[in-house]
Amino acid sequence: METLEFQAEARQLLQLMVHSIYSNKDIFLRELISNASDALDKLRLATLQDGLEADATDLHIELEADAEARTLTVRDNGIGMTREEVVELIGTIAKSGTAELLTKLKEAKESPELIGQFGVGFYSTFMVADKVELVTRKAGTEGHGTRWESTGEGTFTIDDEPDAPVGTTVTVHLRPKDEEDALYDYTDTPKIREIVKKYSDFISFPIRMGDDTLNSMKALWARPRSEVSDEEYHEFYRHISHDWSEPLEIINMRAEGTFEYEALLFLPSRAPHDLFQRDARRGLQLYVKRVFIMDDSRELIPDYLRFVKGVVDAADLSLNISREILQQDRHIQMIRRRLVKKVLSTIKDLLNNNPEKYATFWREFGRAVKEGLLNDSDNQKAILDVATFASTAGSEPTTLTAYLERMKEGQDEIYYLTGDSRSQVENSPHMEAFQAQGYEVLILTDPVDEIWVEAVPDYDGKKFQSIARGSVDLPKDKEEPEPEGDFAPLLTYLKEQLTEQVKDVRLSHRLTTSAACLVSDTDDITPALEKMYRAMGQ
Ligand code: ADP
Ligand code: MG
Repeated sequence: METLEFQAEARQLLQLMVHSIYSNKDIFLRELISNASDALDKLRLATLQDGLEADATDLHIELEADAEARTLTVRDNGIGMTREEVVELIGTIAKSGTAELLTKLKEAKESPELIGQFGVGFYSTFMVADKVELVTRKAGTEGHGTRWESTGEGTFTIDDEPDAPVGTTVTVHLRPKDEEDALYDYTDTPKIREIVKKYSDFISFPIRMGDDTLNSMKALWARPRSEVSDEEYHEFYRHISHDWSEPLEIINMRAEGTFEYEALLFLPSRAPHDLFQRDARRGLQLYVKRVFIMDDSRELIPDYLRFVKGVVDAADLSLNISREILQQDRHIQMIRRRLVKKVLSTIKDLLNNNPEKYATFWREFGRAVKEGLLNDSDNQKAILDVATFASTAGSEPTTLTAYLERMKEGQDEIYYLTGDSRSQVENSPHMEAFQAQGYEVLILTDPVDEIWVEAVPDYDGKKFQSIARGSVDLPKDKEEPEPEGDFAPLLTYLKEQLTEQVKDVRLSHRLTTSAACLVSDTDDITPALEKMYRAMGQ
């Protein structure tokens, strides 16, 4: 037997669990069932795709309560873990952003939805347990299995287990009954039944206790929306997304005919911490006729909509389809195109009919959606239709349509200025004349704004024009060429003095109170873009 230490972050997280920061302890059971269900999916998939020889005929989850011993056991006959996997998967938190999570968790004692977001699922057992045992054997391996035990206090033990069956058994030793536990006795059959019904009804494998199957196993996406409660949708969302906050919007899709599929998509209400990290999880779950095929299928949704969570269940794909084949499959490409259209039209609906939800959505995900302006030329217009931007016209963001409606006589371009922050942009000397003469200027402060404004030719025939560029002139300027007159000697002097620093020195109507400002040549990259390229190492 070996005694090992939990990784530092894992230890901290366990501390939080042991001194339960969370009032709803019921969810530990959901987490265990969710892991068991994942393990069953994996086993079935391995037999379908990798030729694993294992019995997949009666995949199920079994619950067993022992009131006397105060234990609750969750058993699955799924994929199981090797000894190395147990140490790695249960002893550490591999996911990025853990430190950040821990700070947040400490700050937000009453904000339970944060747990689970980062895959702390298994550790939640220590909210109710003073000891947890896990016995497992990996499908397809010969010989012994592995036993893991811990009291959640810094170390765990690991040992061989001679007769372990394939799959995983987790035994939770419940803490002694105290006043609180009297309300929540997790060996109590009605209580267990209630928790399963509430959190795990849609799990696609039977969850059995004794002779009873506790869950209906109905695929949520296959049921008519009117028959599914919000609560059921939310639980399902939590199961697939690991996000505990409620989704902002639920999208059902169904296509019949030559290529049938069903989809259930969710727009989250909050951006995950790793939305802009390259290694973040993204993509949708793919099912074929109710059989789970893969997680994180990036073929189903483009990167700029990576925050969309959900399931696509396609009727006519092969069960052992690989990622390589998926990428080329034209049905998958068709589904993807439809999903994009549907997501964009849903955002548009929010914009038109539910401004509050829309504002939340755009605040959280607008930056990601705008990446689509670069990568998805087919939907450029549709994306611009649902985008909103800060503007000098007021404190509320504006759509481009509304901007166009407010354009002044003679104005035929959409003016914008990019920068790091609203106040920086507003205080830019470039802004002065535009402000003074009542021209509205879009205030673009997201890094991606620098790039798409270069890539998108126009909106409704109106070009995007940076007011920091050399060629831009207020409509008034175009009529009267600048008379250099008395200023000619000054301009010559300045040009001489600044030959190293600037290309040219000109008179301009742009400024009303500042004496001078720097502008870029039309073809030069803007200072912010220059900065961004430098940050990307180019
Ligand atoms: P998550 O489920 O978000 O990955 P958990 O803490 O719930 O995080 O589980 C950590 C990992 O441990 C899982 O990803 C899985 O690889 C492994 N694991 C947990 N429970 C089981 C199980 N019943 N069977 C097989 N592997 C499991
Ligand atoms: Mg889990």
